[in-house]
Amino acid sequence: MKNKFIDLSKSGWCPGCSNFNIQIALSSAFSELNLEAHKIAMFFDIGCAGNACDVYKTYGFHGLHGRVIPLASGAKLVNDKLTAICLAGDGGAYGEGINHLIEAARSNINITLIVSNNRLYSLTTGQTSPTSEQGTKTKSTPDGVDKPALNPLLIALSAGAGFVARGYAYEIKHLSDIFKQAIKHNGFSLIDVIQPCITLDKKNTKEWYDQRVYKLDKTWPSQNRNKALIKVQEWDDRIPLGIF
Ligand code: SF4
Repeated sequence: MKNKFIDLSKSGWCPGCSNFNIQIALSSAFSELNLEAHKIAMFFDIGCAGNACDVYKTYGFHGLHGRVIPLASGAKLVNDKLTAICLAGDGGAYGEGINHLIEAARSNINITLIVSNNRLYSLTTGQTSPTSEQGTKTKSTPDGVDKPALNPLLIALSAGAGFVARGYAYEIKHLSDIFKQAIKHNGFSLIDVIQPCITLDKKNTKEWYDQRVYKLDKTWPSQNRNKALIKVQEWDDRIPLGIF
């Protein structure tokens, strides 16, 4: 049976790219929420993740780099009945677009931002992004990144976001459940999705993440912002997944 929301044959992604999994999880969330394609407006950044614009059968706008949030905010102001979803990569969302993320969290505008975070600018063949680990060597940083990685969940929470989550592209059902709750949340929601780039990242691979990720237990999400602020900083031998 054809998927009502996506046609993955149009993606153009590398075979096996984990961006496929994210779209399966999202389209499944749309389906389980009984949404209709013509009532969904999606806003796509520049980058591998943003190229999902060709995949979706919803309304779609492929915008400038880092500008998905203002586009989605404008759409919501015009038609509040739309389900507004932004798809971006870590470069667009946490580099060029970080000011918009902070303002969206502060304003609590009712949009969902999904970030495919592979900690690289992958479309342009692997330069460092704001979430690249300190010391990472790429063609843009041959001597290694000289500063700590930015923690986007910490920034969003600090700015007042009421829904902050981390998913993993290889945990599709778990990711889809997070997407459903984010879409139902009446306010700004950020889902940072760990999305290993199988073509360019030979260090932070699926196997590397598989050994570290774990799901938050049933005591989460916390209604205590201070507790969440501590938990989102856990990123070492263990990396928590879920709604903080
Ligand atoms: Fe996916 Fe990486 Fe290929 Fe981009 S470069 S399509 S993120 S595998």
